[in-house]
Amino acid sequence: MPQPTCRMCGSQPKRVFTAEERHQQMGSSFSYGECGSCGSLWLIDDVADMGAYYSAGYSCHLPFQIASPRARLLAGLARWMPRPLLSWVPPQFSSTFLQVALARHALWLAGQPPRDTRVLDIGCGGALLLWQLHLMGYRHIEGQDLYSPVADGLPFPIHRCDMAALPERYDLVFAMHSFEHMPDPVAAMRTIAGLLSDGGVALLQLPKLPSTPWEMFGDCWLGLDAPRHYVVPRSEALIALAQSFGLECVRQVDEAWPWQYYQSEGFQRGLPVLGTDYTRVLGKPALARYARLAAAEAQAGRSGIGSFVFRRPAG
Ligand SMILES: [Zn+2]
Repeated sequence: MPQPTCRMCGSQPKRVFTAEERHQQMGSSFSYGECGSCGSLWLIDDVADMGAYYSAGYSCHLPFQIASPRARLLAGLARWMPRPLLSWVPPQFSSTFLQVALARHALWLAGQPPRDTRVLDIGCGGALLLWQLHLMGYRHIEGQDLYSPVADGLPFPIHRCDMAALPERYDLVFAMHSFEHMPDPVAAMRTIAGLLSDGGVALLQLPKLPSTPWEMFGDCWLGLDAPRHYVVPRSEALIALAQSFGLECVRQVDEAWPWQYYQSEGFQRGLPVLGTDYTRVLGKPALARYARLAAAEAQAGRSGIGSFVFRRPAG
């Protein structure tokens, strides 16, 4: 069923616009609404075969190449890597190094949980984060993903069921760029709240508004990612939704990641994400300008990517 009212708050759109699928260059276009009340963006169309949009060309779903000794070494070094290095990672550096940096950053956001923390990664995709956590010594880790492309037989379980069907509770729930892929964000937040132990925290990282790259690139913004993103919430709307299920927002960070700018420019130019050498195509000065812009806009709370830590009260 098409969803003509806001998936976050149920209000009417103040504007409807068209967004094209750009990540895999499939050429199809979709209707999105911009909420007249909470300001969030949402997918209006009913997409019958959503699985077709998660094919091999979708870079976010690549499995982690754990077989590589270099990958293992870098991941093993992660526990000593200082967090500020993340903002320093250059665009064409090893993607393994970037994954290490992102995992390290996620743990910092989550408050440096101890190694015996019970962790669930919702929408774990290719298990990139879970592998990093495993290599850092976390042993009570589980993933959930209906469409995970990785094989079974990993040192941690991946549940290929709806997250609402999981019977356990967790001290830490990650939803790293997955919440926006869920058709019903209200139900998703309710489920996340129910998965948390008393005092447990959920880290949601996702595209959000206000966003300078959205204003610069419109439907070419990487964060819209039609039709896979059902919703791009405004920060206030996301926090209010979490509060309605008893969760308190204990940390909110605007991420200063330059690739949300240069990959969006790539979409504008019709470039695929996989295989594009942005340094060569855009030039080093342009990438440096985007890095400075990303840092400044994040400082001003206008990054297109936000991290939110929600805590379930103890007892
Ligand atoms: Zn709304």
